[in-house]
Amino acid sequence: MTYPNTQLFIDGTWRAAANGKTIPVLNPATGLEIGTVAWAETPDLDAALAAAEKGFQIWRNTSAYERARLMRRAADLIRERSDTIAEMMTLEQGKPLLQSRMETLAGADIIDWFAGEAQRTYGQTIPARAPGVLQMTLKLPVGPVAAFTPWNFPINQVVRKLSAAVAAGCSIIVKAPEETPASPAELIRAFADAGIPAGVVNLIYGVPSEISAYLIPHPVIRKISFTGSTPVGKQLAALASLHMKRSTMELGGHAPVIVAADADLDLALDLMVTHKFRNAGQVCVSPTRYLVQNPVADTFIDRFTLGAKAVVVGNGMDPQTQMGPLANDRRIPALEALVADAVEKGARLMTGGRRIGNEGWFFEPTVLADVPITARIMNEEPFGPVAVINRYADMDAIIAEANRLPFGLSAYAFTRSGETATRLGNEVEVGMLSINHLGLALAEVPFGGVKDSGYGTEGGSEAIEAYIETRFVTRKG
Ligand code: NAD
Repeated sequence: MTYPNTQLFIDGTWRAAANGKTIPVLNPATGLEIGTVAWAETPDLDAALAAAEKGFQIWRNTSAYERARLMRRAADLIRERSDTIAEMMTLEQGKPLLQSRMETLAGADIIDWFAGEAQRTYGQTIPARAPGVLQMTLKLPVGPVAAFTPWNFPINQVVRKLSAAVAAGCSIIVKAPEETPASPAELIRAFADAGIPAGVVNLIYGVPSEISAYLIPHPVIRKISFTGSTPVGKQLAALASLHMKRSTMELGGHAPVIVAADADLDLALDLMVTHKFRNAGQVCVSPTRYLVQNPVADTFIDRFTLGAKAVVVGNGMDPQTQMGPLANDRRIPALEALVADAVEKGARLMTGGRRIGNEGWFFEPTVLADVPITARIMNEEPFGPVAVINRYADMDAIIAEANRLPFGLSAYAFTRSGETATRLGNEVEVGMLSINHLGLALAEVPFGGVKDSGYGTEGGSEAIEAYIETRFVTRKG
């Protein structure tokens, strides 16, 4: 596989940007340029908008049965091509090849699931007051969508938006990540090769702030979906609401992991060490604050530290690698500053905390213990391979800490008590809570946050609703 130069996909055609400009793509394991991606500016955005407008007229009049058929074909093409796509993803994003392959195959599953949803967009009939009156609701696609996705899961972040939009009958312009452009382009290619009509699916790259400022207010666009950081999400949501556009916001998190004194510690450690360092911690649902009850705190800290030290860090193309580099060089000073600040404020650095070598963007799996809540890392999403482990006397204190932050995306808990599990389900303020196992992010379950982590779900039976509007029709005769 040769890493490709990625083009724009507009109105059914792969093309360079009108201005001919490109952006370099770097391999995070080496820091070296491996290719380029086309850099769209206003003429390309206008072309994409015209295509999406035209594509919507075709697609809204295509039966749900046919939409689902083409989507399933795209999913099959992705499965057939998953080895090549996974290699592209690892080269551009850094994650181990196995994780890239799993993400690619999970993408195919998500398409299949939303294909099924396309055929289940049921309206209602409503009993009428007057004889001879038929009252009903129609479920209709909201219109052309603008979707903005980040670099941590190059396929997964696109496929949730793309599949739900296309299943509902919307057209879409995807602004995919410039740092990891080739693997999401393969996702779009699968839809194109499956026979989706020109204009329904469009792909662009460029300067994110310029593109969002142009597309969100544009009258053709009827729906916005964004995944990324909370500050950017708030800006885009404000712009969308100014123009009366519906939006879905999947933003940052700071996931608590609650470890009760009665927890199965082997299980908690086994799942939560691996989960912390998956994708080098660059995951919105990454476990961050480990809130452990006093009697098991020292054991948990010691064993977690041993687990972190054993993680094999290296180039994601090497099959031995368990954790690859960070996806971009910005994260290294960001993480170094968070660790230094925590240590300065009294935290214990159990392991890690530094960059590894000077080639590529590798960072040590890091564990901080007994971190004061005034430390920045207790308040800001680290988005890297850093775990914070603190100790608490009882569940009241743990729940208070879990709910202290404005984030509310995911949480994890380990307890053998049904009573504690029920209480956590009722009281922890998050969109997703996984107790005694890892059960998040499947196509058929909700995926989304509350509070500053955003709104709307990108999984489960409610997800397609984000791309549908309800029309009430009443008729006599
Ligand atoms: P960033 O805030 O600059 O960008 C985050 C994402 O938003 C990127 O994909 C970027 O292209 C996009 N973006 C930024 N400004 C935009 C704008 N005005 N319009 C449209 N898109 C815009 O930060 P970063 O350095 O790329 O990533 C670091 C932070 O972003 C992390 O700390 C994390 O909180 C967050 N992040 C979250 C997710 C997630 O899955 N929720 C993914 C990636 C990054």
